[in-house]
Amino acid sequence: MRFDIITLFPELIDTYTKNGIIGRAVENSMFDIAFTNLRDYSEDKHKKVDDYPYGGGPGMLLKPEPMFKALDAIIKHNSYIIYLSPKGNLFNQQKARELSEKEHVVLIAGHYEGIDQRIIDKYVNEEISMGDYVLTSGELPVLMIVDAVGRLIPGVLGSDESSVEESHSNNLLEYPQYTRPESYLEMDVPEILLSGHHKKIEEWRRFKAIEITLQRRPDLIKDDSLIEEYNKLSKTYK
Ligand code: SAM
Repeated sequence: MRFDIITLFPELIDTYTKNGIIGRAVENSMFDIAFTNLRDYSEDKHKKVDDYPYGGGPGMLLKPEPMFKALDAIIKHNSYIIYLSPKGNLFNQQKARELSEKEHVVLIAGHYEGIDQRIIDKYVNEEISMGDYVLTSGELPVLMIVDAVGRLIPGVLGSDESSVEESHSNNLLEYPQYTRPESYLEMDVPEILLSGHHKKIEEWRRFKAIEITLQRRPDLIKDDSLIEEYNKLSKTYK
């Protein structure tokens, strides 16, 4: 798999993608990341890539010509082109899973007031938003997508960093976790986790995962059987 990123701040992308789990994955060729500086496709002698919006209004927009040229140089028959935008579909784990199956994902980071609509109409397969708030530019959203999708690519996470039992992997939030020491400032690790009884630990974790999801994100619980399961488990674990 390959990500191509179109940005005005390649150094931001470069720093993040050379470090941590994503940096290690790229170094081990688990997937590729390339970035294009939009200014390299500007024919303006000052490398200008933005202009005023027609019809007036505040701010500037990224112009079509440099972006068209950059995209023409990057895209292939199998490219999936995403523009990061607060108007897009909300990003979530399901979308990350879908994108991890693609061969080539192109990510466009916007700036100022956004980009000329003709870029979206001609090239973009999907607009994706990171949430109902507005950031100054698309670099953080781009990196969030690379990170969330990259870690789902087989082999990127080691066995001790598994994505199988974490929040959103099965529409539940993760159960609480503890490490050593067993007791700290008079706060104790739940006894069941020290019992060595694997089946009971699994049940308790399942109970806690359903409980925390019901408390914080009841919208994620689509299935009544989970409530029945919770009621049953609460007889033992509440
Ligand atoms: N005028 C735009 C609007 O009202 O929809 C907002 C533009 S924003 C200031 C500049 C850029 O930041 C956008 O082009 C987009 O790439 C990025 N951006 C800002 N908020 C975002 C969000 N919630 N999700 C994804 N991208 C975002």
